[in-house]
Amino acid sequence: MDHFLYKNGVLHAEDVSVAEIAASVGTPFYVYSTATLTRHFRLFQEALAGMDHMICFAVKSNGNLAVLKVLGDLGAGMDVVSGGEYRRAKAARVPGERIVFSGVGKTREEMALVLEGGIRQFNVESEPELRALSEVASRLGKVAPIAIRVNPDVDAKTHEKIATGKSENKFGIPIAKARAVYAEAASLPGIDVVGIDVHIGSQLTDLEPFRAAYLKVADLYADLRADGHDIRRLDLGGGLGIPYTRSNEAPPLPMEYGQVIRETVGHLGCEIEIEPGRLISGNAGILVSSVIYLKEGEGRDFLILDAAMNDLVRPSMYGAHHDIIPVQEAEAASTAQPYDVVGPVCETGDTFAKARALPTLTDGDLVAFRSAGAYGAVMASEYNTRPMIPEVLVRGDHFAVIRARPTYEEILGRDSIPAWLSAE
Ligand SMILES: *Cc1c(COP(=O)(O)O)cnc(C)c1O
Repeated sequence: MDHFLYKNGVLHAEDVSVAEIAASVGTPFYVYSTATLTRHFRLFQEALAGMDHMICFAVKSNGNLAVLKVLGDLGAGMDVVSGGEYRRAKAARVPGERIVFSGVGKTREEMALVLEGGIRQFNVESEPELRALSEVASRLGKVAPIAIRVNPDVDAKTHEKIATGKSENKFGIPIAKARAVYAEAASLPGIDVVGIDVHIGSQLTDLEPFRAAYLKVADLYADLRADGHDIRRLDLGGGLGIPYTRSNEAPPLPMEYGQVIRETVGHLGCEIEIEPGRLISGNAGILVSSVIYLKEGEGRDFLILDAAMNDLVRPSMYGAHHDIIPVQEAEAASTAQPYDVVGPVCETGDTFAKARALPTLTDGDLVAFRSAGAYGAVMASEYNTRPMIPEVLVRGDHFAVIRARPTYEEILGRDSIPAWLSAE
């Protein structure tokens, strides 16, 4: 459920007309709903109720400071994968004790930044990283709390580009090797072993891979305890999928996911961390765009939008489906017809949907892409020198621009022509 519904025939974000935002901000733009973000965060709180837990929002799914502030104010922790994301979490006033640092290639500079600023735990992904962290922490006179990310060799049954829990993926340490790596960790200065971490992929629509991975974590927990490690925290990652179509998809609910956690690791008495991104932010955002031209082709009509693959890359990168709906509600009697929905970028890959059945649309009409709150704005680029599009946050009957569209002066001003060229 989200808060993007038609009222009086016009799509609204909570109580604000999307057409009004478009008139004020100009298209294309992203809109996020505070009520939907809140609702999704609370679903995880309810799913883990009664267990000592921390829900760390995956900042990489949507890193806007205002979004992080909404979630941080609800008590969310943050899962960050770079020094930049750590800075975002801190700028949204999330304390270091609620931030976990994941990622396969943390640099020494990032480690130092995070150790100085405060951190709940590093999720360490390799032995060289572990040794580097020990060095950096020792040099700074700090102790780094760590979990080791184990790779459970479980097939997440999701898109190959976002599956991370198979042994051929670059992530984590093979679970069979984990005891040896934990032994090394315990012997290193500046390292405090606190937990086990696992994350098997994104947009999982089946609970069984989670169950398989968490059972392996429970076994490892017993082994590590027997080896004398004071494991007190389990970070179970993110990855729960969302429905991208209204009609025929029903991925598992957070409550059912919580039940799997209870059944597999609930009895261990550990603090449970999870790192959901998409399930919190995905359906809390839409992308609004205008039709520039309706181009009638041979055998097919193209809707050429002012949004493009650089604004929302998921369709061209993963072949992802996003529901597209008109902002002005179609009349009940109107018949759907197929359109190829494309952007203006000079690549055939700049196609959002092929032969998509939509109500009759024409130049100047507004459309909205649903489920665009996660891996949308954060993956945008300025390809074709298209300015990064604004982000808007709605709460009740208010809206605010939470990232402004840059001016062309700002965009061009980042480049410079070297002196040896300017003279010519
Ligand atoms: C991407 C990622 C997540 C979030 O995944 P979602 O599918 O958005 O829930 C969580 N943890 C790690 C380590 C990640 O890389």
